[in-house]
Amino acid sequence: MSTTLAALPEEFLPRDTADVVRTVRDSRPQPLTVYGGEPTGEDELGPPDRRVVLSLRRMNRVQAVDADARLVRVQAGARLSDIDRTLGAHGLGLPVVGDHREITAGGFAAVGGLSGASHRYGMFSDNVVSLEYVDPEGRFGTCGRAHHTDRFRRILGSGGRAGIITALTLEAVEVDKDRTWLTSDAHRFLDFDTFVEHSLAEIVRPGDAMLQVGRWVDTAPLRVSRPVGTGNIQLGTVRFGQWSSLHPTAATPSLRARRELGARARKSLGAIASAAKGPAGMPVRNAAAGALMFAPKVLTLRDAEYLADTVITSSERGPAYRVGVFAPLSTYTAVFHRLHDMLTDHRERGGVFTVISALTYGVRSPYLHELSGEDHGFISFTCRLRPIGTYSGKSGTPDVLRDIDSGIDDILRAERARRYHAAD
Ligand SMILES: Cc1cc2nc3c(=O)[nH]c(=O)nc-3n(C[C@H](O)[C@H](O)[C@H](O)COP(=O)(O)OP(=O)(O)OC[C@H]3O[C@@H](n4cnc5c(N)ncnc54)[C@H](O)[C@@H]3O)c2cc1C
Repeated sequence: MSTTLAALPEEFLPRDTADVVRTVRDSRPQPLTVYGGEPTGEDELGPPDRRVVLSLRRMNRVQAVDADARLVRVQAGARLSDIDRTLGAHGLGLPVVGDHREITAGGFAAVGGLSGASHRYGMFSDNVVSLEYVDPEGRFGTCGRAHHTDRFRRILGSGGRAGIITALTLEAVEVDKDRTWLTSDAHRFLDFDTFVEHSLAEIVRPGDAMLQVGRWVDTAPLRVSRPVGTGNIQLGTVRFGQWSSLHPTAATPSLRARRELGARARKSLGAIASAAKGPAGMPVRNAAAGALMFAPKVLTLRDAEYLADTVITSSERGPAYRVGVFAPLSTYTAVFHRLHDMLTDHRERGGVFTVISALTYGVRSPYLHELSGEDHGFISFTCRLRPIGTYSGKSGTPDVLRDIDSGIDDILRAERARRYHAAD
């Protein structure tokens, strides 16, 4: 007989797969909210007063490395940064890691997992060879590239709904992340059309770039204005983009010194951004986010992979509307323009958003290629929401966002693009 909901603890911390099986069976029919590590509270699905949470943070072992086969077997709660350190001792590394150090293998596989290395290696989930899971009925199973492939695809990227991943076997690549030095080749743009054009050209022909990313930032004119002559000028408007490709280079002593300086500057910008609260702090926070666009001229691959860790988490705050899509390269430009035009139009007409930013890079995913016969560009928009009461129409956020969502679906259907939204 299963345990009553009231008798269940707030949070389960299983130590092995058998614990996960028991927990799922005991909590039925109540669905579990699964976390890879510490619950963040950001993506809560159920009512906050009574959610049954399972975290895999105690199932965090790197179990075996097969250096010859370039494979690593891990428990699902193992952090990518720890797996990467272990692999480093064998001259190996994970091809795709997330942008901060706490991300777990199970959590990343459950969302798909992208990074600036996806133009070479696809999604994190493309690099999963096989996995073990517990399904929503509490049954244990295994699946992989060569067996139960439908189930494998369903679980990868399902955000935990199709099953809880308990262990994974991952492909690694030969790399020394601490001794692979990269130099950043950056191009800046004031004009959105040229930015998109340049991004597509880099995605199509990345050369030997190990990482790539394009960022566009467009802040609405802030309400702060300063009297000049007989009128006022708006302060704080920023509208620019940058494409960065990071190529391998040989590090000279002076370049190493510049790298140290750059790392220190980014850390202090992050700290200033965290401390700068409220509307007055916005220009500071925007500047901190902008710092990411000015990556140091030279840095190691490991530093580059976690560049966002030092600044972005402290600079991106407040409610936001986010959308991420995979656009086939043949319609990449059209998708980017249509999404941008729609979102900026909502800002100009309805005042829904303040800052609109976009991020883009290439994704050479065997899985996506199989679906559409093409490589893809990833395009994501983050639109900061204005507080509800300040909208002109006062129709309320959800209605407006539903309209935006369906507008996006129309664009994606017409352009054969698809959403990247494992958690929905
Ligand atoms: C839809 C989505 C896409 C994201 N994409 C990226 C990205 O491409 N690159 C990036 O750097 N960051 C991304 N993030 C942000 C964040 O880095 C990822 O969510 C990352 O997976 C967090 O890792 P975590 O281990 O803390 O997982 P959590 O935040 O705890 O979980 C992430 C999701 O996976 C589920 N989940 C966690 N563990 C398991 C498991 N063992 N088995 C089954 N399901 C599980 C959770 O229920 C949740 O839906 C994304 C976030 C979301 C919501």
